[in-house]
Amino acid sequence: MSNVPVAVVTGSNKGIGFAIVRALCKQFPGDVYLTARDPSRGQDAVAKLQAEGLHAFFHQLDIDDLQSIRALRDFLKEKYGGLNVLVNNAGIAFKVLDTTPFAVQAEVTLKTNFFGTRNVCTELLPLVKPYGRVVNVSSMASSSALGGCSQELQQKFRSNTITEDDLVELMTKFVEDTKKNVHEKEGWPSTAYGVSKIGVTVLSRIQARMLNETRKGDHILLNACCPGWVRTDMAGPKATKSPDEGAETPVYLALLPSDADGPHGQFLSNKTVRTW
Ligand code: NAP
Repeated sequence: MSNVPVAVVTGSNKGIGFAIVRALCKQFPGDVYLTARDPSRGQDAVAKLQAEGLHAFFHQLDIDDLQSIRALRDFLKEKYGGLNVLVNNAGIAFKVLDTTPFAVQAEVTLKTNFFGTRNVCTELLPLVKPYGRVVNVSSMASSSALGGCSQELQQKFRSNTITEDDLVELMTKFVEDTKKNVHEKEGWPSTAYGVSKIGVTVLSRIQARMLNETRKGDHILLNACCPGWVRTDMAGPKATKSPDEGAETPVYLALLPSDADGPHGQFLSNKTVRTW
């Protein structure tokens, strides 16, 4: 088993995830894993870094596929005895003009952005070593979607006692409410992406609380963040930040020094803690 520190970035064959891997290759003192659901897209991305003189390892990971997540978990356990840095970056968004029915957009978006990210955390968080760093890439869209929720939902999502089961129930209810076309009446905003990212931000707050309760002495720091508005296939060419600039806040959180005691359980953008 290798004692070398190891970092894993989900959805990193392109966009912000790729830029996070590039930055970690330069700054993380250990092995960096670029992961992708499609092996050939992943290998191409590794080759692109190689051409820049950087070395990343590749492992397949489709966050929608529990078997794929567990294969990565077993690999990390066997080869490294755990992991040191996990960046949950993989995500999807329907384009604004997409005519797919809203209920389908809700189901598909929540499946990857919330349920897939949660499944990765369920399998990999127990493997995170002391002084590990976990970064969940959310979005400012989570804050604006929170503002569009009913007072009752806002209270639940801001609660310091909400459990992961409560959150899963709420995310499931959103999808069900869109199918019955009662989501607005039930207090939800009309943004599937925004609600999925509420899920990611609130999940991060819950996970940080759980780490405080169960692994206090391990000094693990876990946060959610927004990368900013970044020129990728998701956000398009008009966005204000380059992918490397978008990677800055996630990388800052992934590399928080071992003597840092925060941020933890926070939502950040531009390396600054935002009020939730
Ligand atoms: P992107 O260019 O579309 O890249 C998304 C990445 O996620 C791709 O590598 C994609 O793989 C991967 N992915 C999607 N579904 C996956 C799955 N089931 N399993 C594994 N990987 C999967 O988007 P981006 O702009 O870089 O976004 C990265 C993250 O930042 C997302 O979480 C996004 O919500 C968030 N974000 C972006 C912006 C922005 O302005 N761009 C703003 C706020 C937050 P494929 O190539 O196989 O599709």
